[in-house]
Amino acid sequence: MPLTRLDLRGVPAAELPDRVPRPPASTFPTEEVRAILDEVRRGGDDALRALTARFDGVEVDGLRVPAAEIAAAPAAVPAGLRRALELAYERILAYHRHEPDPSGDVVDDGVVVHHLVRAVGRAGLYAPGGRARYPSTVLMCAAPARVAGVEEVALCVPPGPDGHVAAESLAAAAIAGIDEVYAVGGAQAVAAMAYGTPSIAAVDVIAGPGNRYVAEAKRQVAGITGVAAAFAGPSEVVVVADETVPPAWAALDVVVQAEHGPDGLAWLVTWSPAVADAVVAEIERLVAASPRRADLEATLGSGGYAALVDGPDHAVALANVVAPEHLELMVEGAESLLPLVRRAGAVFLGPYAPASLGDYVAGPNHVLPTARTARFASALRVDDFRTHIHAVAVDAPGLARLAPHVVAIAEAEGLPAHAASVLARAAVAESGDGAGGADAAPGAGTAGAVALRPDLMALSGYHSPQVEVEVRLNTNESPLAPPPEWEQELRHEVGTIAFHRYPDRHALELRRALGEFHGVGPERIFCANGSNEVLQCLLLAYGGAGRTAALFEPTYTLHRHIANLTATAVVAGWRDARYGLDPAVVRDVLERNRPVITFLCSPNNPTGRAEPPEAVASVLAQAPGLVVVDEAYGQFAPSSALELAAAQAPGSERLVVVRTFSKTWSMAAFRLGYLVAAPAVVEACAAVALPYHLDAVKQLAGRIALRHAPAMEARVAFITEERGRLAAALGELPVETWPSDANFILFRPLARRAAEVWQELVEQSVLVRDCSTWRGLDECLRVTVGTAQENDRFLAALTRALSG
Ligand code: PMP
Repeated sequence: MPLTRLDLRGVPAAELPDRVPRPPASTFPTEEVRAILDEVRRGGDDALRALTARFDGVEVDGLRVPAAEIAAAPAAVPAGLRRALELAYERILAYHRHEPDPSGDVVDDGVVVHHLVRAVGRAGLYAPGGRARYPSTVLMCAAPARVAGVEEVALCVPPGPDGHVAAESLAAAAIAGIDEVYAVGGAQAVAAMAYGTPSIAAVDVIAGPGNRYVAEAKRQVAGITGVAAAFAGPSEVVVVADETVPPAWAALDVVVQAEHGPDGLAWLVTWSPAVADAVVAEIERLVAASPRRADLEATLGSGGYAALVDGPDHAVALANVVAPEHLELMVEGAESLLPLVRRAGAVFLGPYAPASLGDYVAGPNHVLPTARTARFASALRVDDFRTHIHAVAVDAPGLARLAPHVVAIAEAEGLPAHAASVLARAAVAESGDGAGGADAAPGAGTAGAVALRPDLMALSGYHSPQVEVEVRLNTNESPLAPPPEWEQELRHEVGTIAFHRYPDRHALELRRALGEFHGVGPERIFCANGSNEVLQCLLLAYGGAGRTAALFEPTYTLHRHIANLTATAVVAGWRDARYGLDPAVVRDVLERNRPVITFLCSPNNPTGRAEPPEAVASVLAQAPGLVVVDEAYGQFAPSSALELAAAQAPGSERLVVVRTFSKTWSMAAFRLGYLVAAPAVVEACAAVALPYHLDAVKQLAGRIALRHAPAMEARVAFITEERGRLAAALGELPVETWPSDANFILFRPLARRAAEVWQELVEQSVLVRDCSTWRGLDECLRVTVGTAQENDRFLAALTRALSG
C-alpha cells in the first residue's frame, strides 16, 4: 500500500495542524548554491560555460539561441502539439488579461474560473525600536494587514534600555488593534516569527522595515515565510527643484532624509545652476546649525548629490535610474511629469507635499522600496497579506473539446498520467454518460432542493447600468422620438384592435410589410421582441448542448450570453488590432470547430466597424452552418449583407440578416426586431417562439413605422452627420478613437483611466458605456451619437473630465 492511512474522524479543525504530518524539512543545498552564484558573479560567461559542461555535460559556444532557430521551431514540432501550444497560450493570455481586475468569474468556452482572494492567517509585523521609536511604522504595517482581513497580527519591537517597548509604539499598536506585541528586535525577531518559539507562534507573512540585520534575516527566511519584495532599508530621496520653490524648502527635504541615519541617499536635481547654488548653500547652513551636524555630514558625504540636468524630462530620467524611495517633484506643473515616472517608491508633487507628509498622515504606506528595489517592488500593500486562488470548473463537453490539446502537451512533456486523467473523463463525455451530468455545487443557485442548471451558475446577467442622468448616450438608441404622424396614426389605429383576442400569431401583416420593404416575401421574415429575441430563437432552434457557435471578439456580448443560456458551446476568434476580421483567425476557428452558427456583427458593437461585403462573403464560403449577420446598426453603414443574402442560390441559403426597430426606427421602447433568411430558418424560429409572442400593438406600431420610411432615412442622415462632427471633435481631444459605421463611437482616454472618466461624466449627468474591463477593449468607452445638444454636452463634459 503506497499511501499512509490517516484516521482523522472526530478531530476538530483547530487541532488538525498538530495532526497533519509535515513534509520533512527541506535541506536546501545552501553552500553549493552560494558557490555557484559566486562563480557566475565573478566569472561571467566563462563561468556559465564551465558550469554547463560540469552539470549538463555539454560544451556550448553561443549562449544565446539564434532568432532563426526560434522562428523555425514551431514548424519543427508536430502540428498537433503546435496547435495545442497556440491554443493554450491564447487561453492563458485571455485569463491573465483579467488579472488586474480579479472580481467576478471568467467564463470561456465551458471553462469557468472563479477567483478567490484570501487573507493570510497570521502576520508578523516589525517596527524598529530601541533608542528610536516609530509608532507611525506600527500603523503603516497594521493597516493593510487589517484591511486584508488577517486574523492574527503580531508585532515585534526591540525593547528600549529599560527593557520595555516604548509607550508611543504600544499606543499605536493599541489603536491599530494589534493582537500580540513582543519585546524582541533584530534578526532574532525575524527568526522567531519565521520558525516560531514556545512564546511566539510562527507567522505566514513578515512585513515592516528594519536595519541591515533585519533585512538580511528576512531575505534568509523568505520562502519559509512570506516576505514582501521591497527592501525597506535606509531612507532615500530625490528632490527635483526649479526656480518656483523656495530653496530653503528643497534644502530641508534633502536634509530630512539624511536625518534618518547613515547609508541613505539624498539627491538634489535641477536644470538651473542658480537653484543648485541656492539650495546647496541652504543645506550647508542647515547642517551647520544642526545638533546632529556630524551624522548629517557623514550621510551627505557618502550619499548626497547635487546634479545638474538638461530639463524636466532629463531630471525624471535620472530619477528613474536612481529608483529612489521618495521622489519629490518640486517643480511647476509637477503632475505633467508623472507619465514619465517609471521607478520610485512614492512621488510627492508640488511645493506643498514634502515626503514627511507621506511619512505620517497622507494615507499611502511609508514602508517603501529602497536600494533600487523600486525596479520590481512597491510600497507595502494589502496584497502583501493576501493570496489569490483560482478555482477551475468545466463541464463534460468542455473537457471533451479541450482534451486533445491536453494530451498533445502532456505527451510532449512525457507525463502520461496527465494525458490519461483527461482521456478517462473525455471518453465518458463522448459516450454521453457524463454530458450535462456535472453535479451542481451545493448551495449556489439552489432554490429549496432544486439546483440551478450547473452551467448557468457561473453566468452573470446582462447589465448596462441604468443611471438617472440628463444625457443618456450608453445604449445606442435613437436620440429622436418617432415622427409625430407615426404617433397620430398609431393612436388612431389602436382603436381597431380587438383587445380581448390574441394577436395574429404569425404577425403576417407586419411580415408582409417588412418583406415589401426589403423586396422579399413574408416567408423570409421572422419577427420577435427585439433583435435579441430573434437571436435567442436562432440559438434555441440551431444551437443547444453539443453544438457550437463561433464569434469574433470583441463583439456584442449577447451573442455569447444567449449561446451560454441555450447551452451552446462558444468558440471565439480574436479580431486584429484595428478590430477587423483576420482571415487566418476566421479560417482557423471555422475549420477547427465546424460551428453550427457563426455570428458576425456588422457594424460591430462596440467597435463600430462594418464588415466589407467581401469579408462576409468569405466567412459564408467557409462556415459550415448558418452565418448570422447582426445588423442592428445596418442602416448607418455603407453596405449590408442583405444584397449578399438576395444573391444566394435557393435551397442552399445559409445567410441570416438580423435587424431591429430599436435604433433608426426610434422604437426601442417597443422591442421589435426581425430577421431576413431562408423560409426554413423562419419556420424553425417560429417553431421555438412562444405562441402569440408579438402583441397586437407592437405589430401595428411596426407596420405604421414602415409607412414613414423617408422620415426614418432622414434620421439616419442626421445621425451620420452628427457622428462625423463628434468624431472630428474627439480627434481634437487626448483620446484614441476608431472609425465608426454605426451610431456610436468607441474611444480610449489616453491620459486618464477610463473608469475615472466614466465617473466624472456621470457626475456631469452624461452616461456613456464603460467597456474598459471587457476583454480586448482595455480602457475603452463607447458613446452613442445623440442630438446636437447632447453631443455638445458630452464633448464639454469629456473635455473637463480629461483635463481633471
Ligand atoms: N444587436 C446588437 C449588435 C446590439 O447592439 C443590440 C442592442 N444593443 C441588439 C442586437 C439588440 O437590440 P434589440 O433587442 O433592441 O433589437
